[in-house]
Amino acid sequence: MLVIQARHLGMCFGVRDALETMRNLPYPETVTVHGELVHNPVVTEELDARGFHRQSEDERHAAPSTDKVLITAHGVSNTARKKLESQGYELIDTTCPLVKRVHKAALHYHDKGYFLVVIGRRGHVEVEGLTGDLVNFVVVSHPDQVRTYQERRIAVVNQTTTRPDEVEEFHRRVVRNNSQAEVKLVDTTCRPTRERQDSVVELVRRVQGLVVVGGANSNNTLQLGLKAQEHGIPWWRVATAQELRPEWFENIRVIGLTAGTSTTDETVREVAVALRKIKPGKLSA
Ligand code: SF4
Repeated sequence: MLVIQARHLGMCFGVRDALETMRNLPYPETVTVHGELVHNPVVTEELDARGFHRQSEDERHAAPSTDKVLITAHGVSNTARKKLESQGYELIDTTCPLVKRVHKAALHYHDKGYFLVVIGRRGHVEVEGLTGDLVNFVVVSHPDQVRTYQERRIAVVNQTTTRPDEVEEFHRRVVRNNSQAEVKLVDTTCRPTRERQDSVVELVRRVQGLVVVGGANSNNTLQLGLKAQEHGIPWWRVATAQELRPEWFENIRVIGLTAGTSTTDETVREVAVALRKIKPGKLSA
């Protein structure tokens, strides 16, 4: 098959920096990674091979079993951070600066008395970190969930991997349903997410299907795939090249390739090589 890659794809600087910190840490067996470092099973295997202790995202409420705790690129709330410190843990912080920026924006408006509408996936680790210090807030993951709130001042912030067009739609709904309120929008989609979204929009016009490389829990991976769906072409998510199934591509000659921000360059390369080896489908016969 002919493979066309998105202009911007794969690992962002936030994840790259977190991985570099992890790879340079001495004595990994003395460190517990607090949740998934990134939503990428290949990286998870690497952590295990190096001897890191890991807490899955569901286990993060339990006490870590080592003296040092690595905070992932998705960040944690100040409340969670202080709790760990008060329990005597030494923290190694790999929170992405762009996640910190969202926390700062949310707390700024919250402290001024605004009600926060947080656009994001409920239960997602970044959203939990963001809302962990808030009292007066709601998380919405679909525009239909936006209600009329009994508040005079509302601030809208979003998970860093929210699609820019979705942010606009949520904002419109908040304004429309809350004409009594002053509504502030702080668009906190990060630049790497924007670049990958813009690139995939260009890409889906040129291909017959799309492969997105990324973990099952990765929000930005899902968002990339949904662009293909909106454009009316099929898409498949794989975490590794081994997950590709040739029968998916029976009717496809030209396939697009992109990857979520947690995906390593090596995994993208392996998937590209494997796709090129798949024989063109029925349409080229
Ligand atoms: S996706 Fe954006 S916010 Fe998240 S780690 Fe990467 S650069 Fe940072």
